[in-house]
Amino acid sequence: MIVILKKNADKGQLGNLISWLESKNIQVHESIGESETILGLVGDTTTIDINLLNALDIVEDVKRIQDPYKKANRKFHPEDTVVNVGGVSIGGGSLTIIAGPCSVESEEQICAVAESVKASGASMLRGGAFKPRTSPYSFQGLRADGLRLLEIAKEHTGLPIVTELMDISQLPLFEKVDMIQVGARNMQNFELLKALGKTDKPILLKRGLSSTYEELLMAAEYIMSGGNENVVLCERGIRTFETYTRNTLDISAVPVLKKLSHLPVIVDPSHAGGKYELVPPLSSAAVAAGADGLIIEVHNDPEHALCDGPQSLKPESFNKLVKKLSLIHNAMREEF
Ligand code: PEP
Ligand code: MN
Repeated sequence: MIVILKKNADKGQLGNLISWLESKNIQVHESIGESETILGLVGDTTTIDINLLNALDIVEDVKRIQDPYKKANRKFHPEDTVVNVGGVSIGGGSLTIIAGPCSVESEEQICAVAESVKASGASMLRGGAFKPRTSPYSFQGLRADGLRLLEIAKEHTGLPIVTELMDISQLPLFEKVDMIQVGARNMQNFELLKALGKTDKPILLKRGLSSTYEELLMAAEYIMSGGNENVVLCERGIRTFETYTRNTLDISAVPVLKKLSHLPVIVDPSHAGGKYELVPPLSSAAVAAGADGLIIEVHNDPEHALCDGPQSLKPESFNKLVKKLSLIHNAMREEF
């Protein structure tokens, strides 16, 4: 971090600043130029609040040269992290397919979809029990009953389950859930992230609707700094000026996040495109871009789905797609 001082900065205040930084184990290199004096800070500056420095009387400007995230940073952890979810690995070169309906609707529905996606090659089951809906009049999910139905589908198929938690108060209900999803709308719910950092459950962290890569990585940092390093990042489309698609799939997120972080990166083509016919091409692009997995909405009767029917694949289309993705994944692993 570099701190540029104002001209004629008060020597007493400068001394106080340097002592304070040194007390935080930061080495301070002062270079006095003709027009400017700058301080080069060396050490772990992640805990230094840039706004606090900027607010000081003697400070003209502050520039960060180190990333503000440490635990999620690939620089400090060059190897890919592999997250184990109930025996299923995410990351490290494999392609993990998570599939299931947007919402759990009934035992018949979740069990039928679970059986069919398993037969097609999915290794985890998704399904919302607590649903973050834009309208309070829309189906809000079966809540605790939905979690119970997911557990039944897991007993039938052996597939680990991932489902969204919207509020810390729901945490005790999630004991048998294998992976907790933090939805896009909650990506910066910092109290929730802190609470999840204290658990040992793998977390699927979805990118916020208008969040930058750094904001996503800082959200991961919240969870990891609490002690839970089992975080999987998910690109699910962002808000842009385009209205044809539900969101805009930011395919660059895959290589960029994988460069900046060692955490696995998966893609949700369903919420990105918002239309079932876009799911195969967006999934293919994600695998070609290096994604560690996909989370895809599949429904056995999309026309009557209680949530997100238009973007849900029918089991037959999902079956075909998985075959194609496996070919693309293998091709991407060839060396030329
Ligand atoms: C979901 O996965 O069902 C969901 C609501 O996703 P997102 O938080 O990405 O909108
Ligand atoms: Mn959905």
